[in-house]
Amino acid sequence: MARVSLQHIAKTFPGGHAAVRDVSLEIADGEFLVLVGPSGCGKSTTLRLVAGLEEATTGMIMIGDRVVNEVHPKDRDIAMVFQNYALYPHMSVYKNMAFALKLRRVARAEIERRVMGTARMLGIEELLDRKPRALSGGQRQRVAVGRAIVREPKAFLFDEPLSNLDAKLRVTTRAELKALHQRLKTTTIYVTHDQEEAMTLGDRIAVMHKGQLQQVAPPLEVYRRPTNRFVASFVGTPPMNFIDGTITAEGDATLFVEKPGSVGGGGGPQARVRLTRAIADGLLPMAGRAIVMGVRPQHLREADAASGEDSTLGVQVGVVEPLGDSMDLHGATAAGNAIVARVPARVGLSGGQFVRLAVDVGQANFFAPGEEGKNLLLG
Ligand code: ATP
Repeated sequence: MARVSLQHIAKTFPGGHAAVRDVSLEIADGEFLVLVGPSGCGKSTTLRLVAGLEEATTGMIMIGDRVVNEVHPKDRDIAMVFQNYALYPHMSVYKNMAFALKLRRVARAEIERRVMGTARMLGIEELLDRKPRALSGGQRQRVAVGRAIVREPKAFLFDEPLSNLDAKLRVTTRAELKALHQRLKTTTIYVTHDQEEAMTLGDRIAVMHKGQLQQVAPPLEVYRRPTNRFVASFVGTPPMNFIDGTITAEGDATLFVEKPGSVGGGGGPQARVRLTRAIADGLLPMAGRAIVMGVRPQHLREADAASGEDSTLGVQVGVVEPLGDSMDLHGATAAGNAIVARVPARVGLSGGQFVRLAVDVGQANFFAPGEEGKNLLLG
């Protein structure tokens, strides 16, 4: 096992496309780090740079205490699991798993010990004589993981290893991968475009966008205090609501006042959300300037109409999506801003109704204007 260190890594492909721009990242010994981001953000290229399948244009890559920029992929002591598993079709499962060890002239008895032990751990002992074409997608995935494990590498590199599995199998297999990591504690870098997979698997997640790291932090930190609006909208489902407005001081209170929009006609009264003391202290210097409030759908709830709660949004519901124990309300505020709320399911709530939604202000985030505006609560 080993730490992996990327220092100011950049990769520009011939033709000038900068796929990775100045990425610095320390992955601790035994850590499970997930690189996540939308298609084309540079996450696979970053992984391939660690594997040695691409050469860095600039920067330094270390595995353990060794700089590996000039080291051949097969000598980097890492094992990679690819999206398509890349199993050898003409070899049995046993031979697929044993192959890399054989190349390294590991003794036969030792190969057998490792392959059998790993097959037992992954529950694929019955499959050892089969060829890959006689396996299901989930079984192939296990063989690919097994092939990585037997090598006892310093680090595992996973490139979207679950994306060829159906939704249900993906969920069970990702729990198995997590349990496996807890058992083996091998340093792991895992690439996915699926934010839910990233959140559930990673000790930390590294969110990438346009070749750059946006935030590297434990999953809940990224969820609760995303560093900018890109991360805020990428992590969490349904995506965070963003409402333009301004901060206003009124007597003792500091308010966020919604700016009128045009969704659903608009024209109604603007929402006025009272900020908590901690948030107000951070935002008061922004008074009068344009600001964006970000509220997750989970942090809106139906207000008690009789209680006269402040910090509510009057919402005209357009569509209701029942999910079982909760339901998503898609609608618009009276002042014309689109809003999605995930609230406990309630019979009788349907499209066309008007509801009052209370904002859990302590959980809200506030951003500078623009698609990539910074989180103003993070200083
Ligand atoms: P995906 O999830 O779609 O695989 P990704 O985030 O893993 O996306 P990369 O595969 O790292 O993205 O690609 C990053 C950018 O670099 C993309 O714009 C891609 O087109 C470009 N790119 C990748 N490989 C090459 C290559 N060999 N030559 C030129 N451009 C490349």
